[in-house]
Amino acid sequence: MKKYYLETYGCQMNFAESAALENALKERGWQPSENPEEAHAIVLNTCSVRKSAEERVWGRLGFFKSTLRGKSVSLVLSGCLADHYGEEIRRRFPFVDCVAGNAEKSRLPEILDQLTENRGEIDLERSSVFAFGGNHLIPGSFKAFVPIMHGCNNFCTYCIVPYVRGREISRNPEEIINEINELTEKGVMEITLLGQNVNSYTSNKRSFAWLLKEICSFSSVKWLRFVSSHPKDLSDEIIDTMAEFPQICKSLHLPVQHGANNILSAMNRCYTKEYYLSLVSRIRRQMPEIALSTDLLVGFPGETEADLEETLQLIREVGFEDAFTYFFNPRTGTKAAEMKGQLSEEVKKERLGRVIELQRQISVWEKTKRLGQTVTVLAEEVSKKNGFEILGRTEQNSMVVFPGKSGIIGSFVRVKLLSLSGTTYRGQIDDTV
Ligand code: SF4
Repeated sequence: MKKYYLETYGCQMNFAESAALENALKERGWQPSENPEEAHAIVLNTCSVRKSAEERVWGRLGFFKSTLRGKSVSLVLSGCLADHYGEEIRRRFPFVDCVAGNAEKSRLPEILDQLTENRGEIDLERSSVFAFGGNHLIPGSFKAFVPIMHGCNNFCTYCIVPYVRGREISRNPEEIINEINELTEKGVMEITLLGQNVNSYTSNKRSFAWLLKEICSFSSVKWLRFVSSHPKDLSDEIIDTMAEFPQICKSLHLPVQHGANNILSAMNRCYTKEYYLSLVSRIRRQMPEIALSTDLLVGFPGETEADLEETLQLIREVGFEDAFTYFFNPRTGTKAAEMKGQLSEEVKKERLGRVIELQRQISVWEKTKRLGQTVTVLAEEVSKKNGFEILGRTEQNSMVVFPGKSGIIGSFVRVKLLSLSGTTYRGQIDDTV
């Protein structure tokens, strides 16, 4: 029995692709292993978006170099790092048996078989179209990610994605709906549509809003989410569709990145702060119960104290329930890495600290407003801290802990939100839906 060991880094797209890889490997008779030293093949599905994710992989390669010396195990490095540093990896880490970029991911099961059977040369001619197919369900799970597009045409000046994932490619809608139907037949309750820029999904002139309507009309999905959105592509039609269909969760991740127009322009985000705020008003007018979350990038080259203050003001004005905050790290090959006005690590960290602290207060403030409400929660798992408590998520994507039995896991329950501990609610079951 051949065993594989898999490590996945980065975004949800990578995790969905890893789930598809695991299912395909199991169909070919492979078994997962918890221990790399017992495996016949090790796969690192990597991410290049943030420097920290890259550094972890370099560290892991160093670790494998020493621990696997003399052992008969194949090491495959796939994903964005492979696309970004392919040649360099082959040169610096010659013990890596195969460097397979995102376009080759669908061939990984075949590559692993080939490597472990004859350890011969792998023919890695780049395929221009990434195969979306595969089964993205993690066995036993009632939540699944379904990739609908990948790549990005936007070229934000700080981002490496268009260089490593390539241009946008949208998946055939019939294939998406078939996969969703298969997942719901297997008991999946919540599906998240994935793509680097899902709002610009297009297939034969059929838009993302059209796709959302098709999924809601022709599948029995209970909860539908999607990431990532780009503010410039979030059309009125998408907002109307979100408001129209109860299956679409009233929770939206809408990365703003910054609150100063000069910085947004230098980032090539193609919208202004005023546009973003008007979009938020439109969304809230249609869906007052919606929870908004965002990404905030601090310390972009040339950012002044006044620019940072505009970001803080925007955070206060919008009232995000959650935010992913990070500071600028130059990514080799992007325009922003070459820009004048690079800030010191110290300044970036200090500014990020202020953004995090404000956002923490705002998150608590926004979540407090929902206390006393009875909301629908998808029960996800038994709490690790207390076996008599269940951990779930609200439609607004907030975590909630409440007393309950493990039998309700994977189903929807009505929970009254009683208090907050940090940003996690504590609640109590009201009644089963
Ligand atoms: S929209 Fe910008 S930040 Fe997002 S993936 Fe594309 S280039 Fe990167």
